[in-house]
Amino acid sequence: MRLSLLIVFALWVYPSLQEEKFSRLREKMVKEQIERRGIVDPSTLSSMRKVQRHLFVSDNMVDYSYDDRPLPIGYGQTISQPYIVAYMTEIIKPRPDYKVLEIGTGSGYQAAVLSRIVKEVYSIEIIDSLSNQARNRLDKLNYKNIHVRFGDGYHGWKDKAPFDAIVVTAASEHIPPPLISQLKENGRMIIPVGSPFMTQQLMLVEKTKGRIHTSSMIPVQFVPFKRRQ
Ligand code: SAH
Repeated sequence: MRLSLLIVFALWVYPSLQEEKFSRLREKMVKEQIERRGIVDPSTLSSMRKVQRHLFVSDNMVDYSYDDRPLPIGYGQTISQPYIVAYMTEIIKPRPDYKVLEIGTGSGYQAAVLSRIVKEVYSIEIIDSLSNQARNRLDKLNYKNIHVRFGDGYHGWKDKAPFDAIVVTAASEHIPPPLISQLKENGRMIIPVGSPFMTQQLMLVEKTKGRIHTSSMIPVQFVPFKRRQ
């Protein structure tokens, strides 16, 4: 009898208690870190409330998964701070019919947040193991409209271009020209620009009537944009 109670607790009660705990932490994260800092887009807020961030970090980081900071995901890379993910999502003005390109899949978290709002997400990752891990994770979690590819995102994803929006999650010294050309007319790109290992500027790039307009938004710190030799 005692053993069966223990099994019920281990298999059913404990996981649902854990889920409840994470869901409370997620709500707190959205209220205190995201809404309080001025994010208002309902689709962004709703997606941030739904995506289970604790499933995008390694076991030893789970307790910190709703903290107000980036976290290591191995290979010297990080999952971005929740507020920055929300900021980059809101600023591209995501819509349900959008096709979005992300450079820097990492854990797959930003892609998951986008995928609950837009039609398709194409995401490129330069570290093979991270790209495989993210693909497996997203498959397991049933994210069907995210397509992950291993490669150097500098060249974009030509076969699937043009994109309504592009989100770059690694800091580049310049805006890669192929990404500009793969952006649709009236499209928006958000990209951290500046020296690696220093503070960079999040730049908003807009394409109107074939012209490029860039605006400097907020200071950020991202991992460097790498190039494949
Ligand atoms: N969006 C990610 C954040 C990952 S950090 C998340 O939500 O978890 C940035 C990622 O960009 C790293 O995984 C890094 O390996 C990747 N990266 C750096 N340079 C790249 C490039 N040229 N092409 C594709 N990915 C790149």
